[in-house]
Order: sequence, then C-alpha cells, then structure tokens
Amino acid sequence: MVLRILKYLGLAVIALLAVLAVKTALYKAPDYAPVDAAALPSVTVDVDRVVANVSTAVTFETVSQNLVDPLASGQFHGFLEWIEAAYPGVHTTMSREMANLTPIYKWEGKNPDTQPVLMTGHYDVVPAPVAELDRWEHAPFSGARDTEFVWGRGTIDDKIGVIGLLEAAEMLIADGFQPERTIYFIFGHDEEIGGQNGAGAAVALLGARGVQMEWSLDEGSMVLDDVLPGLPAPVASINIAEKGYVTLNITAKAAGGHSSLPPAETAVGALAVAVERLMANPVPGGLTDATADFFDAVAPEFGLAERVLFANQWLFRPVLEGILSGSGPTNAMLRTTTAPTMLQASLTENVLPTEAVAVVNFRIHPRDTVESVVAHVEAVIDNPDIDVTLRGEPTHPSPVSSAETEGFQLLAQATLGAFGNIILVPGLTVAGTDTKHFSKISDDSYRFNPMTFGPDDLSRIHGINERVSIADLERAVQFYAQIMMGVDG
Ligand SMILES: [Zn+2]
Repeated sequence: MVLRILKYLGLAVIALLAVLAVKTALYKAPDYAPVDAAALPSVTVDVDRVVANVSTAVTFETVSQNLVDPLASGQFHGFLEWIEAAYPGVHTTMSREMANLTPIYKWEGKNPDTQPVLMTGHYDVVPAPVAELDRWEHAPFSGARDTEFVWGRGTIDDKIGVIGLLEAAEMLIADGFQPERTIYFIFGHDEEIGGQNGAGAAVALLGARGVQMEWSLDEGSMVLDDVLPGLPAPVASINIAEKGYVTLNITAKAAGGHSSLPPAETAVGALAVAVERLMANPVPGGLTDATADFFDAVAPEFGLAERVLFANQWLFRPVLEGILSGSGPTNAMLRTTTAPTMLQASLTENVLPTEAVAVVNFRIHPRDTVESVVAHVEAVIDNPDIDVTLRGEPTHPSPVSSAETEGFQLLAQATLGAFGNIILVPGLTVAGTDTKHFSKISDDSYRFNPMTFGPDDLSRIHGINERVSIADLERAVQFYAQIMMGVDG
C-alpha cells in the first residue's frame, strides 16, 4: 500500500517537473519590433553642435516653481528667444503659436489626409536647492561639459527631449526633408508643477480645433542598464501607460486637553494605528496589465531559475508577486503605492491636539481608480472617528495604449537603430508626465527618452549631479530623426 502511494507520488512529481521543463523551454518573449532596425536610414549627427546647444540650454534657469516671480519668467523668455536664434530652419519652416509660455510647432506634412503625430518634451526644471550646491561636481546651471558628459539641472529631465527634437528637425530641414505626415511639437513650460498652463492649455487649444493625433511621444522611461539584475543586455522600456495620483488627508479627532491628564484614546494614537494599518495592508496588486506585458517581454531573458518561475505563473505567481513586491521599484509597477509624507498635530508639547492629520500620497495603478483607492483606505482604517478626504485635485491613471500599433513599432525600430541589440519592452510610468494632457488628443500615447540609465543614475533625476552622456545625446538625435523620417502614414 505504502509502496503504491510512493509510486504514484513519484509519478506525479515527474509529471510536474516535465510540465515545468516544457513550459520553460517554450517560454519566449513577444517580438515588439518585427521590422529590421537596419532598414531605417542611417543618420550622421554633428555631435559638437548638439553638445554646445544642450550646454547653453542648461544655463537658462527655467525653474517652473519660481514662475510666480516675474524675474524668473525672464529665464523662460530668454530660453524661447535663444531657440528661435539657434534653430532658424525650424522657425522658418514650421508655424508656431504659444499656449502661455509653451510653444506649439506644426511641421506641415506632404500628405494632409493622414493623421498627424505629436512629439513633445518640457523645458522647465525642478530647483537645485541652495543647501545642496556644494555637493554638485559642477554648478547646476553652468552647462559644464567634459569629454563624456554635459552636466546640470535639466540635462536628463527634460532638455535632452526638447533639444534632441529641435536638433533632429533642424538637421532634416537643412537636408531639404519634409515628413509625409504633419508632425506637431509641444515644449511644455510647467510640467514639473502639473503642466496645466502649458501642455494642458496647448491640448485645450488643439482639441477645440478637432486635432487628433495618431500617437504622441513624451518623456517617461529610458534604456535601463543593470537596473534589473540578471539580464544579459540593457532594457528599453517604451511606456504605454502612466499611474494616476491622489493625496488624502487622514484626520483623527479627539477631545484634546492638557497633557498631564491624557485619556486612553488620543488623536495621535488613533492616527498612528490608522497609518500602521495602511502600511500593513497595501492596495492589492499583481502581475497584470502593462506590468504583465513588461515582465512577459523581459523574463525570457533572465537566468534559468527566474525563467522557470515566470514561465510557470500558473503555479508560482504568488511566489513571484511576493518577491517583486519586496523591492521598491518593482512593487511600484505591481500596485498602487501608499506613501505617508506629512504629519501634523498639536503645536505645543503639553497640549493634546483635537485633530491629528497624516497626509498620504498614492500613485494609482491603471487597474485602480481614485474612488477605489479611497474605498480601500476607509475599509482598512475602519474607524468612524477618522475622516478620509481628498487633498487637492487627483489625477486619474492614464488609459493603456497599444504596443501593437505602427507607431509603437516605429519607436521600437528607432530605439534598436540607435542603441543596438537591446531588450525592448512596453512598460508603465510610475510617476506623472505631461502625457496626462497629451493622451486627451492622441489615439495612443508613448513615453520614452532615448538615454541610458545605470543604477546610480536614478538618484540624479531631480537630484544632485544630473548629467547626460555625450554618446546618449548623439543617439537621441538619431532616434528622433529616424522617427521623423519613418512617419510615412
Ligand atoms: Zn520631466
């Protein structure tokens, strides 16, 4: 009897191992760039010129947080006047109109019956705090360059986008090129503070005229080199969706009074329990939607152990989701994240507050909504004496664009053309970009910056020692030029 059970058990284990092995062997990434990258025309870039122009662009202190100060707006006007002088071909060939300080360019295509496309960037930047200035290797607005990098605030985010597009268009115009389709360009001036008066106003203007783009391209991801350990090549993530944003005030109320006679329940105590519950009960998530597309494309490139897990999600999905939830960047791809950022209670050490408030910021995964996040928070806190209210205007998560369009394929081809043999995947932008506006007038929206990012580069975004490599500047102009040439309708 025991022997027979052991025999069946043995057979079951062998069958299971066989299924795992076959599924792993058959596990293959979908091909997102079926057309040969070598089919695109090659592009020769005047690298010295691009480096000089990016360096000059950085010297304009276009800090959008300072726009309330009329002196600061001089930097924005200065930047706009400078690009007019530096890109004469663009300014004589294209029409330009302004949405506040955001220029909208229209490059008329040969074939007016085809749908236009939109290519964008933003020229505003975040501040470089005075307290950190001595930690910069080169002053943030000096535009310093050496043999490898151009340094300074805005090089990555996002003057490489704006200058890369202008350089590519100027170069093609000098060659007598005209695109088949009409191409619009929008260069936002307030992306870092929500983009309402820039991209938002530009989209309202074009939308009112019934302009609808086949696709739009904005910042949002890059070529990740060594950021995901265990991959044999860098990964270019062309992002097809973007998370939403909501901040909640969690308010606990109590009687207050003197701190010499505290009751068993205080506002601060109740609030602490509520925050602890929120952190212990994250919004449910998982390997679905754009996140599943990303890992389906990346995972076949991993080593054997990871491939067995990803190829057999029917069995290992809970294990995988547990592993991916354990690290900040992959957890942010899997679910709506919970981030308590501010606390406020009594102003005095010996007075019990009548109110204690925690401010909690959520980045909403496209599977969730503002309403479902609020419902989750209320259910988890489960305390009628604690109020949950919206703080400011929420942003809903973006629609999810298709990775099977001609537009996506063109971007994929141009990426492989500029960066060589890398892994190309669709992905999810976990922060916010101006595409929250552009997607209102675009059938599909894509987010990708043509530059390479290693593990120590992540902290340079909005951080100290922001810089871009000269090799990436060359590739960026190639990438944008190839897209403009490939937009053939
Ligand atoms: Zn940006």
